[in-house]
Amino acid sequence: MRILVLGSGAREHAIVAALHSERAHSIVTAPGNPGIAAESEVIRLDVNNPSLVTEFAKDEGFDLVVIGPEAPLVAGVADALRDAGIPVFGPSKAAAEIEGSKTFAKDVMSRAGVPTGGARLATTLDEAAAAIDEFGAPYVVKADGLASGKGVMVTESREDALIHAEHWLAAGPVLVEEFLDGQEVSQFVFSDGVNVRALPPAQDFKRLLAGDGGPNTGGMGAYTPVPFLGDRFGGERAFSKLIVDQVAKPVVDEMRASGTPFAGLLYCGLIVTSAGIRVIEFNARFGDPETQAVLERLGQPLSELLYASATGTLGHLPEELAIAANAAVTIVLASEGYPEDVQSGRTITGVQDALAEPNVKVLQAATTQRDDDTLVTSGGRILNVVGTGATIAEARAFAYQGLSRIHVDGAQYRADIAELAAREQQS
Ligand code: ATP
Repeated sequence: MRILVLGSGAREHAIVAALHSERAHSIVTAPGNPGIAAESEVIRLDVNNPSLVTEFAKDEGFDLVVIGPEAPLVAGVADALRDAGIPVFGPSKAAAEIEGSKTFAKDVMSRAGVPTGGARLATTLDEAAAAIDEFGAPYVVKADGLASGKGVMVTESREDALIHAEHWLAAGPVLVEEFLDGQEVSQFVFSDGVNVRALPPAQDFKRLLAGDGGPNTGGMGAYTPVPFLGDRFGGERAFSKLIVDQVAKPVVDEMRASGTPFAGLLYCGLIVTSAGIRVIEFNARFGDPETQAVLERLGQPLSELLYASATGTLGHLPEELAIAANAAVTIVLASEGYPEDVQSGRTITGVQDALAEPNVKVLQAATTQRDDDTLVTSGGRILNVVGTGATIAEARAFAYQGLSRIHVDGAQYRADIAELAAREQQS
């Protein structure tokens, strides 16, 4: 197939690497990054411009366009491609609202009978204060729309909750939610608008520092499988089936019924509470950094799943995906000052040495190649090192061994990614 991938992060690098490994496609990525350039042609293209992308895809005769990040979805790139009859992996702008608007997501869940926490929409500070007092501490206050991860506050302080509400009310409604106590799990589900197929669950690490301290980030690492699901739900397949039956399928059915069919990747962000599973959020695309670990366990061609989701033929594929019984751990290397005050332009060394280590992949994100071929940093999350192994402990040992080969002045990473999970799996 001739495939166009849109995006430039480690998530897109993971997608391109999986497609490249099938040795059957001609892949072009826009805008890509120096790591992706080793596995696909990369071109400059304004990926958020629906008509430019569609014209390019038509002219070049692509069989499939895969949209990695959210921005092109919100800009309506998938709609334009679909209108032009080009198979596209990624939902319409209207369906991407499941990620873009927390009230939209709550409405869909309520109509579909999906388990989620209680929530109140507030448009004034008085309404917000009433909801804050109704739910009690810890308080959860969220901006309704997209706020690049900065819109959510979870706090024990009523005063901070109110300040946060007041701040975001200036931009639009805020959502006050019931606090959900438990472990978070990410479940990725392919959808063609009717049928769904589940990847294995994963867990990510949102906080900057070891022991879940410091500020929230785009994600500092991830791993799969998630051992505690085995004990509690009778295995990861049983867990995925539960999420398909109770969350993904009802949401996909409801969205189709209400005229906004969802075709693409439905990311179910869940909390496993003592009372059962609850949805905290949906994303309308692959999650970063979980994808980088999850795709390592996919035992069948990714292209088939993307194409079937794009063409309404997912129902022709077996109900259960082929998932390897191995483990994968991804560790994010971030720039000095990330996430608040990112220092860019630092030289990156050792990528080739890391790649020479067994069972290691290096997936690039905020990197750029200078004219003299030096690789330098160009943003917050520089790259990911992914290790795979028979167990989580093995996978994480490979990942950290790979990471030890790479050097960037001042760079940061968490040393405790999947540490607990590795112990849990062994016990
Ligand atoms: P992301 O950065 O994942 O896109 P977001 O800005 O869309 O996040 P949410 O995913 O809704 O926001 O919340 C961010 C984080 O805040 C969650 O991953 C979770 O750790 C915490 N959180 C959100 N809602 C709740 C809740 N109701 N109870 C407990 N914790 C919550």
